[in-house]
Amino acid sequence: MLRYHTLVLIKPSAVQRGLCGVIIHRYEQAGLELVGIKLDQFPSEVFADLYREHEGRDYYQHLVEQMSSGKICAIVLAGPKGTVEKVRALNGATNPVEAVPGSIRGDYAVSMRPDNIVHASDSEASALREIAIFFPELTIN
Ligand code: ADP
Ligand code: MG
Repeated sequence: MLRYHTLVLIKPSAVQRGLCGVIIHRYEQAGLELVGIKLDQFPSEVFADLYREHEGRDYYQHLVEQMSSGKICAIVLAGPKGTVEKVRALNGATNPVEAVPGSIRGDYAVSMRPDNIVHASDSEASALREIAIFFPELTIN
């Protein structure tokens, strides 16, 4: 069976609130497989690279600083075709105000500040690039 991968980052505020377990549980409940996990703080350069498409936006500096302000939980999930889209659906809309109840952002956040709880890759190509940033030791496919 073909296996597709995606990267999720549980953002610092959610790690501090003790939400790693419930968030990971949702992905596992949906049938996705946890194939990599690490809890660590990463320097701002890592997030400047992760979010390089957003350079120049008014929130970019805050985003990079927020992500490097504490430990994140980085996870790699695997599943069938559509895994990238499924994880983004489980996460909900980027802005927690718009994220529907039942989604992770809808249930655990009310605003973009301090952060919107989770990051997830937005395509199979960005998933491969992003997994390589946080899990250089992991061989995918
Ligand atoms: P997503 O995380 O849903 O893929 P984007 O790729 O559009 O969303 O944005 C990346 C991250 O940048 C968001 O998760 C959020 O933390 C931050 N961000 C995006 N847009 C805004 C905004 N208008 N104001 C503040 N932060 C934002
Ligand atoms: Mg994005």
